[in-house]
Amino acid sequence: MKMKELLTSRLGRKIFVSHLIIIGVGVIVLMLTVRLQAPYALNQHIREMEHLIGENEFLRQNLMNSFQSALTEVILIAASGALLAALIVSSFVAWRIVSPIRSMIRTVVQIADGDYRQRAHFVWDDELGELAKNFNRMAEELHSTETRRIELIGNVAHELRTPLASIRSLTEGMIDGVLPADFSTYSAVQTELTRLQRLVGDLENLSQAESGQIKLNLQEFNLNDLVEQVALRLKPQFSEKQIDLETELSEPVLRVQADWERMQQVIINLLGNALQYTPSKGKVRIYTESKDEMIVCGVEDNGIGLSDSDIGRIFERFYRVDKSRSRAGGGSGIGLTIAHHIIKAHGGSLRVESPGLQRGSRFYFTLPPNS
Ligand code: ADP
Repeated sequence: MKMKELLTSRLGRKIFVSHLIIIGVGVIVLMLTVRLQAPYALNQHIREMEHLIGENEFLRQNLMNSFQSALTEVILIAASGALLAALIVSSFVAWRIVSPIRSMIRTVVQIADGDYRQRAHFVWDDELGELAKNFNRMAEELHSTETRRIELIGNVAHELRTPLASIRSLTEGMIDGVLPADFSTYSAVQTELTRLQRLVGDLENLSQAESGQIKLNLQEFNLNDLVEQVALRLKPQFSEKQIDLETELSEPVLRVQADWERMQQVIINLLGNALQYTPSKGKVRIYTESKDEMIVCGVEDNGIGLSDSDIGRIFERFYRVDKSRSRAGGGSGIGLTIAHHIIKAHGGSLRVESPGLQRGSRFYFTLPPNS
């Protein structure tokens, strides 16, 4: 920060002037004290001298005047030195205070203009440095929120494009007479509409989940009842793909205080994924148990498995390992994100393990028991 910039800064000027005022007041007090006190002290001294050498009015006056003018001269020299020192010290202090604030103001303006990469610079670890550090943390958060927002809009547009393009080509085909306006074409349109409807529902759930507004309709029930019911409902789809679905309930009753519908949504998502990502003739096992004072429910398959890097990102919204394969099955990569939030809202956690690609995976969640 340059001297000119420092002087044009209002805060810098204030610090500067306040130092000058302090020095000015100091000099005035010093002058007044010397003026009032010095003649009295000198008079005492002269009187002692006269006692020895006899009275001499001329000498007394002369001595008094020279002493006073010498004193004033010394004080003025000292005041100029103090003023110069104050100038140097106050510009340093003003620079130390004003430069991080100026840097922050510049950054705030740039961020307000939409440039989220800007950061405030700080040199010292004092309160202003702390302020700049926290400000940078806030800027970091804003940046990642903005990136996520842009990403979300891009993802949503991308997800909508595929079913909309299909509906358009199907209807255009019918209008042009290329496709027959019969049951198969209409049902293809309906499939795409269902996919759109599901996506909109998922997005609604996602926005609720991510803003922490999942409404839970809590009730007490046996988690095993829910697991058995969902497994029974999905059994035909497993049979159709020739996948063996095994249910293993280690204890007859595992009481939880949870939202039946939401938990059903989670289990359907886990079983649905296991069904989708396990090849024909594979094996899927759904189990419940009580472990480390928590209730555990897991879905294990011997399907396509997951790599370590996939495991790290699997609960991110719109994350799909194999995008084309998942989309072909109607997946949008939102299901696990919602499931993760639902379980978190219940005070539990959703986790995943996999020994590696093509070696199956295990998704499991924990819930606090209802004691
Ligand atoms: P989708 O609707 O795409 O299945 P999910 O959020 O449920 O969305 O899953 C995200 C991604 O996680 C899937 O696209 C898939 O790549 C991967 N995945 C989920 N379950 C399994 C599983 N049992 N085995 C292998 N990969 C899985």
